[in-house]
Amino acid sequence: MHKQTKAIHTGNFADISGAVMPPIILSTTFERGEDGLSFPSGYMYSRYDNPNRHALEEKLAMLEGGQTCITFASGLTAAMAVFQSLGAGSHLILPDDIYFGVRNIVATLYPHWGLHFSLVDMTDLAQVAQAITPQTKLIWTETPSNPQLKVVDLEGIAKIAKHHQLLSVCDNTWGTPYFQNPLSLGIDIVHHSTTKYLGGHSDILGGALIFKEQGTIAEFIRSYQQVGGAVPSPFDCWLLCRSLATFHARMPIHASNALLLAEFLNQHPQIEKVMYPGLPNNEYHLVAKKQMKNGFGGMLSILVKGGQEKALKLASGLKIFKHATSLGGVESLIEHRKSIEGELSQSPENLLRISVGIEHIDDLIKDFEEGLAKL
Ligand SMILES: *Cc1c(COP(=O)(O)O)cnc(C)c1O
Repeated sequence: MHKQTKAIHTGNFADISGAVMPPIILSTTFERGEDGLSFPSGYMYSRYDNPNRHALEEKLAMLEGGQTCITFASGLTAAMAVFQSLGAGSHLILPDDIYFGVRNIVATLYPHWGLHFSLVDMTDLAQVAQAITPQTKLIWTETPSNPQLKVVDLEGIAKIAKHHQLLSVCDNTWGTPYFQNPLSLGIDIVHHSTTKYLGGHSDILGGALIFKEQGTIAEFIRSYQQVGGAVPSPFDCWLLCRSLATFHARMPIHASNALLLAEFLNQHPQIEKVMYPGLPNNEYHLVAKKQMKNGFGGMLSILVKGGQEKALKLASGLKIFKHATSLGGVESLIEHRKSIEGELSQSPENLLRISVGIEHIDDLIKDFEEGLAKL
C-alpha cells in the first residue's frame, strides 16, 4: 500500500460501538486483568501510553519509514529529550541557520549541564567534520533551514556521523515526510514540530522523534516521555491523526503555490532575493533536487529592498497573508523574523519568512502585487 493510503488507515482502532473513526480515550487509567497483574489492553496509565498517542506514533513512524516514534507536548520538548539524553558535558554540532527556538534552548537552558555547541555552515561538509571534538556526541541538521532555506546534504552528514560514531538528527519540520525521508538517507533520528505541516491547521502544539532503529537510544529517550511525562494530550493526538489523513492532499498544493509565488517574487523589482530551493537559480537547487521528492516544500523567505522599514510595511500591508509567527497551516502567513527572534537573531533585517497556504494561487499573487505597489 502507498503511504497516502496508510496515512488514513494505519493505527486506527475500533471501540465497542463499531465507530469507523477512532474515539478519543480520555481515561488516565486502565483496568488490570483477572490475574491481578497484567494489563490485557496493553495500557496502564496515560503518561506511559494512551490509545490515541499509540495510533499517532504508528502513523508517524510509517510516514518517515522508522521503526519507532515518540511523541511529545511540543517540538522543543522533543529536542530537549534528545539533548538531555546525551549527558552532561556533551558537545553538539548545530547548523548556523538553526531554528531560533532550538538555538535558544542550547544557549540558555543547558550551559549549567556543561552542554556546549558549535554553529557551522553545514552546506560545507568540511566545516562539519572540522568541528568534531572528543566531547562531540551529536550532529543536528535542519534542511531546508528556518528561515534562510539552506539545504544540507543529508547523506554527507550521515556519513560523517557514522565515521565518528556520532548520533545524527534531522529536524524535518520544513521538509516533511512528503518531500524527504532523512532516515532513508542514513540519518538516525528525525525530529518534528508536529505543530507545523503535520498538524496543518495551526491548532495543535506537538513534537515527535522517529528512529531508524528501535534500540537502546530510542528506549532511553522514550523514558523522557513515559517517566518524565512530556506527553501530548489524547485530544491533540486525535486531532493530529485527523490531520495526517489529509496530509497527502495538502502538501502538493503547498508546494505548487510556493513555487509559483517564488517565481513571481523572483522577477519582482522590489525584491532583492528569494530564498526557495525549488528555483533553478537557487544556490542549493542541485542538492535539494537530489534528496527531495514531490517538490520543494511550502516555505520561502524573501529580502525586501528598502530594509526593515519596507519589509515591515509589506508584512502588515498584505490582506490574505496574516503577519504572525508559525507556519505549515492551510492559511498563508508572513513574518518579520528579526523582530521576533531578539538578540541572538542572525536573520537579515529585511527578511520576511512566508508560509504559503493552500488558498488559490492567483489570490496569493494578487495580494503581493497590491502590497508591493503600496510600498
Ligand atoms: C516550530 C519549529 C520548532 C519548534 O517546535 P514547537 O512545536 O514550536 O515547540 C522546531 N524546529 C522547527 C524547524 C520549527 O519550525
